[in-house]
Amino acid sequence: MELIDGKSLSAKIEKEVEAEVQLLKERHNIVPGLAVILVGDDPASHAYVKMKARACEKVGFYSITHSMPDTISQEEIVGTIEMINENPRIDGILVQLPLPEHIDTNAILEVIDPAKDVDGFHPYNVGRLATNLDGFVPCTPLGVMRMLEEYGIDLQGKDVCVVGASNIVGKPMAALLLNANATVTVTHIYTRELREHTRRADIVIVGVGVPGLIKEDMVKEGAVVIDIGINRLDDGRLVGDVDFDSVAPKCDYITPVPGGVGPMTIAMLLSNTLKAAKARISG
Ligand code: NAD
Repeated sequence: MELIDGKSLSAKIEKEVEAEVQLLKERHNIVPGLAVILVGDDPASHAYVKMKARACEKVGFYSITHSMPDTISQEEIVGTIEMINENPRIDGILVQLPLPEHIDTNAILEVIDPAKDVDGFHPYNVGRLATNLDGFVPCTPLGVMRMLEEYGIDLQGKDVCVVGASNIVGKPMAALLLNANATVTVTHIYTRELREHTRRADIVIVGVGVPGLIKEDMVKEGAVVIDIGINRLDDGRLVGDVDFDSVAPKCDYITPVPGGVGPMTIAMLLSNTLKAAKARISG
């Protein structure tokens, strides 16, 4: 069993981004810029935004956070995004989810300029991913692809079971895998006999938010298991969706939580923002 070390891989990617930012500054006088919209006072959202801002600072990006109270109106958020769309210093816009109940999230995401949509949630970019065209790909599944590539895990013709089918994790994950010629099964809360699907798979990729959902008898010998879940237990521990201790000995490769997919998500946000900034060169 080999651990897939997202922490060191993300550190390597961040170093690469930092070096490219330096070149962009020297050669083109471009400083990549990221704007984050943060609504309300959810502690997890605040923690994520802080981590993202710190990562931006580390690689030399310009970053700004627009913090708004949870009483804010749809129109005010839309107005702020429209203003940022026009700001030439900003290459990437990220709306931290979830938004409060009274806000129509899909309508908000559609206001983002697709060229600045570094989270890849705008339907324009979702469509480009579905048709295997270049665009912005959601950071978490993109980070998983980068991990698989780095560890030489081939996808062509492999049976891959994706557990969880959300717009930000499972669905884009499945699209990327299909584009890489894997045979993809997508499962979710209404799937009957989840075990029958996961047990057949060469690679199991889980992002649901249920601690310990994937147990030893649900994974075949020699499988690759990627755990996207992040769950905070009552005792304060952070765990994934995989019962790591029992599943790990059966695997060829497995990601830990923490230190697996989590840090990769931030590295891919930096990488997507750099990509958006480079588009300024061609104009
Ligand atoms: P979500 O609630 O939007 O979607 C959950 C999905 O899991 C749904 O498709 C649902 O049908 C499915 N599901 C729920 N219970 C299930 C069960 N018992 N069996 C099978 N399927 C089940 O959640 P999300 O935003 O996609 O996030 C999922 C998990 O991934 C969470 O733990 C979240 O914290 C984590 N996450 C991690 C990162 C990261 O950077 N590592 C990024 C985003 C989300």
